Amino acid sequence: MTDNQPSVLAGRRAVVTGGSKGIGLSIALALAGAGADVAVSARGQDELDHVAGQIRALGRRSLALSCDVTDPAQVDQLATGVLDEWGGIDILINNAGAAGSHKFIDHPDELWHRLLAINLTGTYYVTKAFVPAMVEQNWGRIINIASIASKIGGRYIAAYTASKHGVLGLTRALALELVSSQITVNAICPGYVDTPMTDSGIANIVSRTKLTEAEARTALEKTSPQNRLIEPEEVAAVAVLLAQDISKGITGQAINVDGGTVMA
Ligand code: NDP
Repeated sequence: MTDNQPSVLAGRRAVVTGGSKGIGLSIALALAGAGADVAVSARGQDELDHVAGQIRALGRRSLALSCDVTDPAQVDQLATGVLDEWGGIDILINNAGAAGSHKFIDHPDELWHRLLAINLTGTYYVTKAFVPAMVEQNWGRIINIASIASKIGGRYIAAYTASKHGVLGLTRALALELVSSQITVNAICPGYVDTPMTDSGIANIVSRTKLTEAEARTALEKTSPQNRLIEPEEVAAVAVLLAQDISKGITGQAINVDGGTVMA
C-alpha cells in the first residue's frame, strides 16, 4: 500500500492465527498495509518475531504471541495478551491449519483427531476467546480461512474435508448468533495456494507416486480452470475487503478464491 492510498483499516486491531507463513503471513501484511495493528500467532516464536518486525516496518503496532490453537489454555493466554495490551480486538483471522491425506481404509485415528483439533476445534477455541470483547464493543469481523474442501469432497482427504466442512458450519451458525452485535462472520475458501503447506503436499505426492516435483505441481495446478496455484496475496485481498466497515452486509458467506474450480 502506498502513502496516497486510504488506510481503510486505520485504528483497527487484528489477530491472525498461523500468521508466521503462507496465507496467514500475507493476510497479516495486507491488514497492516491497510492500516491495522496486527498481532500474529503460531507455535514458532522466531518466525513470529520476524513477521512482527515486518509489520512494525509498515508503521503499525504488532505483537508476536506464540500459541498452539489446540490448547485452550494457550488460546486464553493469547486473548489475554492481546486484550491487555490493546484493550480490544476488531478483526479475527482464524487461519492456523494443517493438512494431511490418507486412504480411508486403515485411516490413522491420529490424523483424524489432529486435523479436527487444529482446523475445527482450534477455530472454535480462538473464536470463543475473542468474541466477548467484540460483543462488548458491538463491532467485529471474524474471517475463517476455510477451503474449497469446505464445500466439496475429495478422495483421501476425509479428515481435512470433515474439518473444513465443520469450519463452514461454525461460520454460518455464528453469523446468525452474532448478527445483533454488528459482528460479521465469513469464510474464505481457497483452492490450492502457493504456500509451504502446498509444498508439503507436493512432496507427499512425489514420495507416494512416480511423479516428479514439477509433475506433481502441474497436477495440482490443473485442478483449477485457470491452470495455476492461487497466490497468498489473492486470499489476503479478500480478507482486507471483508474486514472493512463497508462490508457489513456480507455475513455467513463462503467466498471461493480458486480460479473457478467450485461454483457454489
Ligand atoms: P502453512 O502450512 O503454510 O502455514 C500454516 C500456519 O499455521 C503456520 O503459521 C503455522 O505455524 C501455523 N500452525 C500450524 N499448526 C498450528 C497450531 N496447532 N497452532 C497454531 N498455529 C499453527 O499453511 P497455509 O498458509 O497453506 O494455510 C493456511 C490456512 O489456509 C489453513 O487453514 C489451510 O487449511 C488453509 N488452506 C490452504 C490451502 C493451500 O492450498 N495452501 C488451500 C485452502 C485452504 P507453526 O507451525 O509455527 O505453528
